[in-house]
Amino acid sequence: MIRASTNLSKIMAGEQRKRNIVIIGGGIIGSTTAYFLSHHENFNKETDTITLLEATKIAGGASGKAGGLLALWAYPSCIVPLSYKLHQELSEKHGGAERWGYRAVHCGQVDMYGILAKKNNQSATKGHSVSLEKRSQKAIGLLRAAGVPKDLDWIAAEGLQNYEEMGTPLTTAQVHPYQFTTSMAQLAEEKGVKILYGSATSIAQNSGAVTSVSYTPKGSSDEEKTLPADTIILTAGPWTKTLWPQAPISALRAHSVTIRPSKPVSAYCLFTSIDLPHPSNPRKSTTVTPEIYARPNNEVYACGEGDHLIPLPTTSDLVQCDQAKCDEIVAQVGAISEELKNGDVTAKQACYLPNVEGRGGGPLVGQTSVGGLLLGAGHTCWGIQNGPGTGKILSELVWGGKIESAMVESLDPRRWGL
Ligand SMILES: Cc1cc2nc3c(=O)[nH]c(=O)nc-3n(C[C@H](O)[C@H](O)[C@H](O)COP(=O)(O)OP(=O)(O)OC[C@H]3O[C@@H](n4cnc5c(N)ncnc54)[C@H](O)[C@@H]3O)c2cc1C
Repeated sequence: MIRASTNLSKIMAGEQRKRNIVIIGGGIIGSTTAYFLSHHENFNKETDTITLLEATKIAGGASGKAGGLLALWAYPSCIVPLSYKLHQELSEKHGGAERWGYRAVHCGQVDMYGILAKKNNQSATKGHSVSLEKRSQKAIGLLRAAGVPKDLDWIAAEGLQNYEEMGTPLTTAQVHPYQFTTSMAQLAEEKGVKILYGSATSIAQNSGAVTSVSYTPKGSSDEEKTLPADTIILTAGPWTKTLWPQAPISALRAHSVTIRPSKPVSAYCLFTSIDLPHPSNPRKSTTVTPEIYARPNNEVYACGEGDHLIPLPTTSDLVQCDQAKCDEIVAQVGAISEELKNGDVTAKQACYLPNVEGRGGGPLVGQTSVGGLLLGAGHTCWGIQNGPGTGKILSELVWGGKIESAMVESLDPRRWGL
């Protein structure tokens, strides 16, 4: 069981009545934290203040541009089951199926040859467009022979090398991350959380405990303001280090696209490995591994690999999106699916993943050695999955002084010397 610092314990014991809680960063972690703090029975909106301080816009970073896959087989296992269950409960309570596209899905790993040509008749591979007639008996037979489920009929049978199931609708689900995150923030606001737009610049301490946050209001570059705080929860994703340099959180840029497929596609999330022949030398090939997630409302999301070419900019609205990288993803997924090849690209985007440097995979969640300073950061590629669990345990720590819903000692920031 993880206990809060002495400072926080005093607050719990009632020695300090009015609570001033500031959450820094309105991605999924800050927004779910705001949700669970404001839905906790100990929150009294007449006496307590919870402020969610966001530099640009809610879900403006990775939390609005991620894939949205949820899985019981994700990691770390100490928080995954709690968070997966909370996603189900939140969806039931607030109409998540309609509001943020929550649904159970199939998930598989598919190894393919990229055999389809680009839309404008230029070759993505060998220079020849291959008509798949994929609902023909032959194509269906090829898919079945490789163990592809019957309703996964939107990948090119002739390019198939191997299919392996990774998850079923009992173990795998999805949300639309932008819709989910903004809904969490809105539901928190309805319960009394104040959403403030401004960039936190520093955290002040006195006698080893936090006292306030300084910030620059959005749209004004010179006027700095201060928010008094007895509790500060740092949920600034890949920007965490800019406010707390010792936090071992690094940033990795990743591009993604959304496509409206030419025909509706069934509910599958696919991890791929696609062999694409070299444009001028068919004997050479490159292997690419985009992830492809069918979503409700006739949308398919696809993301590519990360890069360190451009350092993290100061705010999420300054992230540079390289159109060529997005076009590569479109070509890669179009090389294995007629529906995607003939679909319309509806978004090209980039964002930064918060990774944990050094030992352990993260995330870092809980009390730090500074009184009243809590951390919820470094969620790597499973922050959407683990967002509600993180918000829940942080709310327990703040309001009750201890974490009760999960055994998450391994995520304690103090283990990293923080
Ligand atoms: C391409 C891609 C696909 C992904 N797919 C999945 C997936 O399918 N499933 C899954 O579980 N996870 C996925 N992830 C991971 C997930 O997106 C992240 O782990 C998660 O979004 C991190 O959330 P966060 O709130 O920590 O950070 P962010 O979303 O980056 O939010 C941080 C917020 O803090 C704000 N901020 C920063 N500095 C300040 C400051 N000084 N003052 C005030 N506010 C500040 C920012 O503006 C931002 O809004 C994916 C990630 C990527 C990149």
